[in-house]
Amino acid sequence: MTAPPLLRAPLLVALAFAAIACASDPAATTSATSSGAGGAGGAGGAGGSGGGMLSPAPQGWYPGLVEPSIRTGGQRGLLDLRGLVHAHSVYSHDACDNAPRDEQTDAINAPCFDDFRRDMCKVGHDFILLTDHNESFGRTEFPEVLLYREERGDVLVLRGGKPVANRAACPDGGPGVLLLGGTESATIAAGLEGHVPGTVAERQAVYGDATPEAIEKLKAAGAVSILQHTEDWTVEQLTTLPIDGFEMYNLHANAKKSAGEALLLLTKLSTNPGDLPLSDLVFLPLFVEDPIYLASWGSTLAAGARRVTTMGTDCHRNSFPAKLPDGERVDSYRRMMLWFSNHLLVTPDAQGGWDDRSLKDALRAGRNYGAFEILGYPLGFDYHATEGAAVREMGGEASIAKGARLSVTLPRLAEIDPTAPPPVLRVRILRAKAGGWDVAAEGPGALDFTPKAAGAYRAEVRITPKHLRRYLSTYAPLADREVPWIYANAIYVVD
Ligand SMILES: [Zn+2]
Ligand SMILES: [Zn+2]
Repeated sequence: MTAPPLLRAPLLVALAFAAIACASDPAATTSATSSGAGGAGGAGGAGGSGGGMLSPAPQGWYPGLVEPSIRTGGQRGLLDLRGLVHAHSVYSHDACDNAPRDEQTDAINAPCFDDFRRDMCKVGHDFILLTDHNESFGRTEFPEVLLYREERGDVLVLRGGKPVANRAACPDGGPGVLLLGGTESATIAAGLEGHVPGTVAERQAVYGDATPEAIEKLKAAGAVSILQHTEDWTVEQLTTLPIDGFEMYNLHANAKKSAGEALLLLTKLSTNPGDLPLSDLVFLPLFVEDPIYLASWGSTLAAGARRVTTMGTDCHRNSFPAKLPDGERVDSYRRMMLWFSNHLLVTPDAQGGWDDRSLKDALRAGRNYGAFEILGYPLGFDYHATEGAAVREMGGEASIAKGARLSVTLPRLAEIDPTAPPPVLRVRILRAKAGGWDVAAEGPGALDFTPKAAGAYRAEVRITPKHLRRYLSTYAPLADREVPWIYANAIYVVD
């Protein structure tokens, strides 16, 4: 399970991108304003980086424009906080174009560090659960692994006098990003509150071990235990290891699966960049649901295991250095972090605040939905169960004998452009079975469903992104292809 991370990169594709980086630089100089300036670029930039100019100019949201986090607008007093679970900083050996440290001095790659800090602020998430690889992470101390910079206004979360998380400040003076430490080694330990005990070698031995004993040690150090790259694990492992959860989607795995499509995009980047989608939509042609992920997810829950599932960004800033027409490298931290996020429904403290532990509590409890925000930011999504007057959240249990009902609320798209055709949305409730999922209920709007059979039921919202057609250039048919927009965690229905 400690497959060399370099092998995880779609190597052929990465090489091709690297080769094209030199050839295609002139294309970047002809591009319009970057659409990726975290919302600062203005709507006028949205049309310039893909095909021809747009007419009329878009109003409201467009891909690449960041909408603010929902936060207090969540359901039933819960805070809807969005962020990443699985991201690699300068403290991973394979991040930063495989040069995260100086070979002679071991000093970290300061520009890459700054790329991460700048870009995490641009995407406006509330939190990032870092997952750096064993070698560098294991020999680097807290709060360094929390990307802590006192001089930038960061404030540490202390527990027992020790730094456990970093309220990292953003230069725009906004709320900043809560950074939690962690590692992706044999397994993911997300939200470690310090290294496991022992020498560097002893720590690294624990991080590099996927046995139940090692996983328990990670959890004892505060971590949420997640299995990354679900395709690498058997259903038996997903079911029996003492983990909290596993990934329901991984962007890196998706890119690898679509290597052929990626090569086609590369060819267009070098020959006719005007044929490409808007730069921030460049992954849309590669975007596919992975049947292996869905099958493992269904099989594991159908076997009776209760597991939270997450969407893994797995950004490294190391795979695609070529620049897209917006002048930004394909795999910039910003572009990868922007694609989707995990929405944790967090119980606020008495003052309405939250910290690293409230995030982890929500994650362990399964109160999480993932949203592909590159297609539009959802507002008002909800999935819960009721037993009479009692409400059960995602990750919770509802009894048929007590009248369990499952309800999904159809979200709307924030700030959708009124001049664009609306997207087509479809809501589904699915029941886990061995090898996948059965559709229990579906429809174009909100769903209320009374389950007759016990089982694990998840909800999803699918979208046919007709509102994006104007950004797709020669990829316009993708506006008529339905893709997942929201994956919600399961509710466990019992008899
Ligand atoms: Zn890696
Ligand atoms: Zn990773």
